[in-house]
Amino acid sequence: MTKQNPKYIFVFGGVMSGIGKGIAASSIAKIIQAHKYSVTSIKIDPYVNVDAGTMNPTEHGEVFVLSNGLETDQDMGNYERFLNVKLPGSNYMTTGSVYWKVINNERNLKYKGKCVQIIPHVTNEVIKNIRGASVKNKADAVVIEVGGTTGDYENVLFTEAARQMKLKNPEDVLFVMISFVPYPKKIGEMKTKPTQQAARALNEAGIQPDIIIARSDKPIDKKRKEKIALFCNIQKDAVISAPDTDYIYEIPLNFEKDGLSSTILKKLGLKNGGVGDLKDWKKMVDKMKKAKKEIRIGMVGKYFGTGDCILSDSYISVIEAIKHASYNQSRRPVIDWINAEEFEKNPKRLKSLEEYDALIVPGGFGSRGIEGKIKAIQFARENNIPYLGLCYGMQLMVIEYARNVVGLKNANTAEIDLKSEYLIVDLMPEQKEKMQNSDYGATMRLGDYPCEIKKSTLAYDAYKRTSIKERHRHRYEVNPKYIKQIEKAGLVFSGQSPDGKLMEIAELPKEKHCFMIGSQFHPEFTSSPLQPNPLFQSLIKAIKNNK
Ligand code: GLN
Repeated sequence: MTKQNPKYIFVFGGVMSGIGKGIAASSIAKIIQAHKYSVTSIKIDPYVNVDAGTMNPTEHGEVFVLSNGLETDQDMGNYERFLNVKLPGSNYMTTGSVYWKVINNERNLKYKGKCVQIIPHVTNEVIKNIRGASVKNKADAVVIEVGGTTGDYENVLFTEAARQMKLKNPEDVLFVMISFVPYPKKIGEMKTKPTQQAARALNEAGIQPDIIIARSDKPIDKKRKEKIALFCNIQKDAVISAPDTDYIYEIPLNFEKDGLSSTILKKLGLKNGGVGDLKDWKKMVDKMKKAKKEIRIGMVGKYFGTGDCILSDSYISVIEAIKHASYNQSRRPVIDWINAEEFEKNPKRLKSLEEYDALIVPGGFGSRGIEGKIKAIQFARENNIPYLGLCYGMQLMVIEYARNVVGLKNANTAEIDLKSEYLIVDLMPEQKEKMQNSDYGATMRLGDYPCEIKKSTLAYDAYKRTSIKERHRHRYEVNPKYIKQIEKAGLVFSGQSPDGKLMEIAELPKEKHCFMIGSQFHPEFTSSPLQPNPLFQSLIKAIKNNK
């Protein structure tokens, strides 16, 4: 492509949250990428938290870790999965991170004695970040998702930065509003008023949307499109229908039914070849839809305030990784949320785990449900149920083995019971220091670390190489003191840090169990629909072989 100015596509949310703005932003990036442009995606999180590491996942959703270790919003995971790229830390900012920078500049006299103001100093910092990310990613186009809903007090700063960028380079900046068009059954008609009002709220901030993506449970008809176009002051072909779908990966294809990439490229003056190349993507989506044979996966964790949305938001990368691998192997996954505490109160209920094709214990923190999780892991081991442990799920797998096979009574992790005689999982020395100083933000072992894999193991079968890199987010480690003893009793540490000090993967040999493996890293963070993560692939393979 001939190099032109990078183009900036801002995505705002109208009417309400939870209508799939992140997926819409990811899909927009995808369809432009399909035209062979280099596209990158930025998430602006209006929270004052400096990063997402200190946010509660049941409130804010999963903390997604980038390869450089930055703890970010779950939408960053969506971008990576859709674009099949690894994003740098430059692509995520919060109100907190922007102010942090500005205040540091001010303390260092970088503003040369000027009064430091929200406009221009803070807005300039936002614009600098966006342009910086564009350079860092060598992007032809940058999709910027502004968190929150139009009219929120919290995102005014970012809307203002967007307005200024358009003012300066009108031909390089495009505004997209994702809106919601309700269909109240009693009225029997789709209502466009909330969309009109959301557009007006954006107008008040000096922003005229160029494109409106109308989310709804059914496709938007012609009449409604015309109404939105007229009242929101945009062209008819710039109203895009985005009906609900069971498959988020179908959304880029749905957008193209309304010619969205064409409209965007035309408005930005980019060369346009009609619908971009989404061949592989379409094949993948078709395969998903065709998969009929169900597999049942039990996710054992501490769940509270249940309600599917909370769960699916807190574990979105795990859920997606399960889907990627399952559909890739023509299986339809059904995921059940199993509250580990049930097994503490009533161990008889463990029997119900027999109905699952596989069990997963995902990452987690703290003591709630821990004994129940250990019991479930023991059940999986003794009953030959395929098992995958993710981070905490690996640590607890090793503890279970230490307790029940090695015979180390009350073995535990220092996270739960410092008095345990056998601290099979313990704090690393540098982490001890940080915890003593209440230094919690971004101080875990975060991001990509290398892992060396032993040959003739499940891990090697999965990755088919001896050196890998995966993403981490943890404070505790398998205690080196016990490794020999545990290995002697049959558990294999098939993946280790290159210096051999940190245990990255634990597994049972094939003769002992059909598939039991746990990783200290989070394989779910590197899975995408076109490239499912190897450990998840192996889990699904094991399920198929086990039947
Ligand atoms: N709580 C464990 C630790 O800090 C595991 C963390 C996780 O599962 N992400 O090491």
